[in-house]
Amino acid sequence: MVRTVITAAAIAIVFAALLVLERARPLRREVEPKPRRVARNIILGLIALVIASPLQLALLVPVSRWMTARHVGVLHAFDLSTPVRTLLAVILLDYTLWIWHWASHRVPFLWRFHLVHHVDRDLDASTAFRFHFGEHVLSVAYRAASDCCTRFR
Ligand SMILES: [Zn+2]
Repeated sequence: MVRTVITAAAIAIVFAALLVLERARPLRREVEPKPRRVARNIILGLIALVIASPLQLALLVPVSRWMTARHVGVLHAFDLSTPVRTLLAVILLDYTLWIWHWASHRVPFLWRFHLVHHVDRDLDASTAFRFHFGEHVLSVAYRAASDCCTRFR
């Protein structure tokens, strides 16, 4: 619980800092008023979070615990120092998420959900929250499988 609060606080602080920086140094003129758009993106993100979280907790947490207890994962196959293992885990996590993103653009069924993220008329920090709940739900099984690559504890 404490880790969740710290994570949420860190995300909120980084998000607020990015909004301030974007306000101070805009890349281009905004098409739509920022407060309304940011509020809409956050609401979409919260809806996705509320809907997908139970599935994530039901699937990802047990899979993660099972893998941790049995030392399952690509990174367990190699004798690596903790810093190297951590770095590789971050790289593999990023790469596996990139594959999901790539598939979301290539597979028409996935694109229907991912399109919500890309129809934002102004890209900013809040666009990172703008996802259809269906994309989050669909990605749970993929993320559980990709945990095999990134698990290192
Ligand atoms: Zn995309």
